[in-house]
Amino acid sequence: MLEVKDLYSYYGKSPVIQGIDFQVAEGGFFGVVGRNGVGKTTLLRTLMGLTDRATGTIRFNGQDLLQKTTPERAGAGIAYIPQGREVIPRFTVRENLIMGTFPREDGSRDIPEHIFEMFPILDEFIERRAGDLSGGQQQQLAIGRALAMKPRIMLLDEPTEGIQPNIVQQIEQVLKQLNREMGLTIILVEQNTRFVREVADEFLLIEKGRVSLRGPGEALTGEVVEKYLSI
Ligand code: ADP
Repeated sequence: MLEVKDLYSYYGKSPVIQGIDFQVAEGGFFGVVGRNGVGKTTLLRTLMGLTDRATGTIRFNGQDLLQKTTPERAGAGIAYIPQGREVIPRFTVRENLIMGTFPREDGSRDIPEHIFEMFPILDEFIERRAGDLSGGQQQQLAIGRALAMKPRIMLLDEPTEGIQPNIVQQIEQVLKQLNREMGLTIILVEQNTRFVREVADEFLLIEKGRVSLRGPGEALTGEVVEKYLSI
């Protein structure tokens, strides 16, 4: 479904991503781990066309994405949930969810009902301003908004960072459900290696913009974490 080859990506003249290859199969759950500052966020931003320049290949369902604009990539079915949630605080929950439908190529502005089944709080708070929601509720809204475009693949950047534990569990549950039951392909950047080990079919471990290690989720053992990820 997604094939990345020899990817380089730059902010100004500095290459941040330096020759990364990977493939994600349709319905796959792909984890990206690594210490702070190694290029995980930049990798997701590169897939969306949000860095200054990139070279290599990004193929998505047979289309070459590298020359496409960010809205074109969203229109192709790629949803990106950046770190820090970025919902529009002055807009209501409903308005944020409707914004999520904008990339849809069928032109529909309907909010898919399953979003409210997954996150009942969004239904309950539908007319509240997003800025009045807790951090965990805003993250649920950010995921709901991404789902409103009916994506084919979802890119998430540390969705559970700084969120209270009971909501973390709920978000993890939803991500599993979206992948396992609804077949949504997911790329997840995470510091939380426990969750990646549990759910990922495959992971990449990045150091300084390059892949140091890859394998099935269960290969992300305590030893690997100790060797590559401890501070
Ligand atoms: P990670 O997500 O693994 O913590 P990032 O992708 O955020 O890492 O950052 C990788 C490197 O790219 C860092 O050295 C960071 O300083 C640099 N970087 C990130 N964003 C920008 C930007 N907008 N402009 C210039 N350099 C950036």
